[in-house]
Amino acid sequence: MKRNIIKEEKYQRPSWDEYFMEIVKMVGSRGTCDRGRAGCVITKNKRIISTGYVGSPVGLPHCDDIGHEMHTVIHPDGTRTRHCIRTTHAEQNAICQAARFGVALEGATLYCKMTPCYTCAKMIINAGIKRVVCEQDYHDGTRSKEIFAEAGVQFKLLNNVMTTYDDMSPEDKSTKKTETEPDNQIAIVKKISF
Ligand SMILES: [Zn+2]
Ligand SMILES: [Zn+2]
Repeated sequence: MKRNIIKEEKYQRPSWDEYFMEIVKMVGSRGTCDRGRAGCVITKNKRIISTGYVGSPVGLPHCDDIGHEMHTVIHPDGTRTRHCIRTTHAEQNAICQAARFGVALEGATLYCKMTPCYTCAKMIINAGIKRVVCEQDYHDGTRSKEIFAEAGVQFKLLNNVMTTYDDMSPEDKSTKKTETEPDNQIAIVKKISF
């Protein structure tokens, strides 16, 4: 009797970085500012110890309900970047959640959507986090990457994609785009429209 054997391809499990990054996306879907809906997951020994998403401080109105609180930052080289400052960033909220429940972040790994901003990067360093994994680059993330290197925080980009915004000045877009090129990879500029 002939047996019908169906040989299945060996199932390919996601890597740990891919696994936690997929969870970052679900966490970020709870975000309340549509300039990214960023999420963050902090892990230790391959276990999740804290999460956070971008949103207003607890009890305050959300961007989705009352609009953004936009500020323009003019950099020393004359370029301008626009930022919504109503929200607490996903990384900050994940660190705050750990503080709230008494969870030590010493030696932890932080997963987030984009290269953290300068403020988040400083908090990440001082929280004792030793590794940062991002899905894509951020147009204003150069200083963050510099201080991670100086402080000995390992930094990894899963995709060499740069996020820019429609309301950035043209000089800023061109300047920031070239800043991804030292990696000798082609930077893909992903534009977000509002
Ligand atoms: Zn906003
Ligand atoms: Zn930030």
